[in-house]
This record gives sequence, structure tokens and C-alpha cells, in this order.
Amino acid sequence: MPPGSTLDLEPATAAIDDVRDSQKTTCCVVGGGPGGMMLALLLARQGVPVTLLEQHKDFDRDFRGDTIHPSIMEILDQIGLAEPLHQLRHAKIYGPTLQIANTTFNPIDLRRLKTRFPYIFLVPQARFLDFLANEASKYPDFRLVMGANVEQLIEEDGQVRGVRYLGADGTHEVRAPLVVGADGRFSRVRHLVGFEPIKTSAPMDILWFRLPHIPGDLPEGEGRVLGGLGVGRILTSFLRATTRTCEPPGWSRCVSRSPRLSRRLPST
Ligand SMILES: Cc1cc2nc3c(=O)[nH]c(=O)nc-3n(C[C@H](O)[C@H](O)[C@H](O)COP(=O)(O)OP(=O)(O)OC[C@H]3O[C@@H](n4cnc5c(N)ncnc54)[C@H](O)[C@@H]3O)c2cc1C
Repeated sequence: MPPGSTLDLEPATAAIDDVRDSQKTTCCVVGGGPGGMMLALLLARQGVPVTLLEQHKDFDRDFRGDTIHPSIMEILDQIGLAEPLHQLRHAKIYGPTLQIANTTFNPIDLRRLKTRFPYIFLVPQARFLDFLANEASKYPDFRLVMGANVEQLIEEDGQVRGVRYLGADGTHEVRAPLVVGADGRFSRVRHLVGFEPIKTSAPMDILWFRLPHIPGDLPEGEGRVLGGLGVGRILTSFLRATTRTCEPPGWSRCVSRSPRLSRRLPST
């Protein structure tokens, strides 16, 4: 926001008397997804006091990504985290395999990239977030509050001065000169300040589910992305360390058409 401007905030609803405690920090980040977690880690590394508020009690949500790409791994390497990240159970993918009609081909070979990490690193996003949270907690200026559902902004003189969140035991306050809304696509913070997102992407339905491994799958540590294209449909299958996940619309129809995947369906 331009300096000196004020916000047209949604009116607060919780009585201030109900607030159990008020903490002060320099930056309050709302949302412990990859964006908020990484920002909080980087600030804490620089000695900036930061409080990260995440509404869920853990990061274990299935509807999350799995892939870390070479450019991200290089950034992690710059802050010394690529090597420890590789200690987590993971798989590597050197390029996707596409199936069109009855032919498969490999359009991209990441091994040609000039990087120490010429592969897509597959790890469940929940484990990646646990890892970042653990790294951030090594810095004294980092504070993470799980189960903290941000409901209101604290506004004084038309400026945001912090947030109020609902925890298991009631309402709490975090006061900070800088509040960052990293609370995802349906951001409550964005809604509270009245920002309207500009829609740029075409609507798309994604169906996301797991299928079990079967004998003959790739050995542990080797990953694979298989893609199939149809009219108005894409089937993508990630073979990762523990399970295979796919994201096709109309999953049973797609799976039953793919010989590789239909073998994984329970027999009826
Ligand atoms: C099915 C699927 C598969 C994907 N696969 C990949 C992939 O393989 N690789 C990849 O790089 N990307 C992938 N993505 C995209 C990736 O998940 C997103 O780009 C990324 O999660 C965005 O991060 P974020 O931190 O901005 O938001 P989010 O991950 O949405 O995090 C927002 C966080 O804010 C919290 N929150 C929301 N409201 C509040 C509140 N009021 N108070 C406190 N906390 C709140 C939420 O609980 C959440 O943890 C995938 C996305 C989907 C949906």
C-alpha cells in the first residue's frame, strides 16, 4: 500500500475484552504454506522477529503438491538446506513420460540442465513443511503457532497493526508493524482488507487420489511422472516414494483406460 493510505477494513466482530493475551513481533505471517513458511524462515535467519500463524494443527493435508523443482532446490542450497532436505525419504524424476495414442515418449531430459540438481525432487509437501518449520525453529526470532485461525485484523488510525486469531483456548492477539497474508487462494486476510484478486487462469477441475504400488514398480528412490493427453482431459500420475497419486477428471474412467493404472484398482 502507498505510505499514508488507509484501508477500508471489515468491521471487527470479537469483543476486545475476550482477548486472552497480546504478543508483539516485527512481522506476523498468516498461513503456514510453502510461501508463508519460507518467508518466515528467511526473516528469522536475518534476525527479524517473526510469528507464523497456521490455522491447522499440522501440515498433513493430502491436497498438496509433491514436487520441488531444480530452481527451488538451488535456492534451498543457497541457504544450506538442499543437503539436509535430501536426507528425507524422496524420489527423483529426470523428466516426464508422455503417452499419446499408443506411443510413449520423453520430451524433456532434465539431466541436460546446468545445475547440481537436474531432477524433480518428489517429497510430500507436508513433510517439506515439517522440515522448514524444524529449520526455522532453530532461530530464536521464529515463533510458530499451529491451530491459530486468523479472524480479524487489528486496525488503528486506518493502519493494520496486527491480527486476532482463534486458538483452542480462545482469542489471541499478535501485534506487528508488518502483517503478511500468505493464507492461500481463499485468503481471509485479503478479504479483510478488501483486495479483489485478478482472475487470470482458466477454470479447471482436478481430481487427486492415491493408488497403491504393485510388484514391478520402480525401485525406492526412483520416481516417474506419466502423462496422458485426451480431448479436454489430462491424466498425470506421480510415482513417488510410497504411493502413486493421480489427478484426472473422471478418475475411474481414466484409470480404467490406462493399463498401467487399472492393474492397481481393487478387483470387484
Ligand atoms: C492438488 C495440487 C497439487 C499441487 N502440486 C504441486 C506440486 O507438485 N509442486 C508444486 O510446486 N506446487 C504444487 N501445487 C501448488 C502448490 O501447492 C501451491 O502453489 C502452494 O501450496 C501455494 O503456497 P502458499 O503458501 O501460497 O499457499 P497454501 O499452500 O494454500 O498455504 C496457505 C496456508 O494458509 C493457511 N490458512 C488459510 N487461512 C488461514 C487463516 N485464516 N489463519 C491462519 N492460517 C490460514 C492454510 O491452512 C494453509 O496452510 C499443487 C496444488 C494442488 C492444489
